[in-house]
Amino acid sequence: MSGITIRNIRKSFGATRVLHDVSLSIADGEFLTLLGPSGCGKSTLLRILAGLEVQDTGSIEIGGRVVDGVRPKRRDVAMVFQSYALYPHMSVAANIALPLRMRRLSRAQRLPLIGRWLPGSGPVISGIEMEVFRTAEALGIAHLLNRKPGQLSGGQRQRVAVGRAIVRHPAVFLMDEPLSNLDAKLRVQMRAEIKDLHRRLGVTFVYVTHDQAEAMTMSDRVVVMRDGEMLQVAPPQEIYADPNDIRVAEFLGSPK
Ligand code: ADP
Ligand code: MG
Repeated sequence: MSGITIRNIRKSFGATRVLHDVSLSIADGEFLTLLGPSGCGKSTLLRILAGLEVQDTGSIEIGGRVVDGVRPKRRDVAMVFQSYALYPHMSVAANIALPLRMRRLSRAQRLPLIGRWLPGSGPVISGIEMEVFRTAEALGIAHLLNRKPGQLSGGQRQRVAVGRAIVRHPAVFLMDEPLSNLDAKLRVQMRAEIKDLHRRLGVTFVYVTHDQAEAMTMSDRVVVMRDGEMLQVAPPQEIYADPNDIRVAEFLGSPK
């Protein structure tokens, strides 16, 4: 059970109010997209869900638990950013393994992860090695585990970032414009991959984009945001067919 309830969230930076009393319920397993132009508060809301930013007022519930004041690592959420923030000096395997509890491993068990990827080169194949390999395999990057991020294409780096996020099996997956650094063709391909991932994992996705096509093709519901407010929350077809606000219609470029 990992729905999200957002209650009356307000957030200002200095004198600038960035989120005005935002409330929303997200169902367990839903793919929900925050759509809106740059500066409307999408990332701020996502960062508040992740615990990377603290709201001024209001409350967040994840999986039935109030998480206000709970540190990011203890929220059972994973986040993928636009800039992948991979460690350039570490292998793909090590980058994916990063969120796992490496401290529990012996040095011998850690070696295949921090050095050359060679499963079982320690005394036994550790659970972590299995997790890393399964994750990489699921994303089609198992053959790249020994490479460094600098030796990968943009799409491959993106998959590593996704791998690092899902390796811990989070209940909620937060993605902030994960495709915006990719070229158009790859972007379309990755949309399908992310949707496929959502189907397979069955976890709740909160996805942020300023790209209408992404929002409309991927989401169960779309939240159209503008200036720190939610203008409309509805399935894609409904937003197209029946925009409830002139600003939604304008943003979609359809007359009302
Ligand atoms: P979006 O992700 O929709 O582009 P953001 O949530 O990043 O929007 O930003 C919303 C507004 O808040 C913008 O005007 C931005 O400049 C401002 N903002 C975001 N983060 C900070 C911060 N840490 N300090 C000051 N202003 C910020
Ligand atoms: Mg943003």
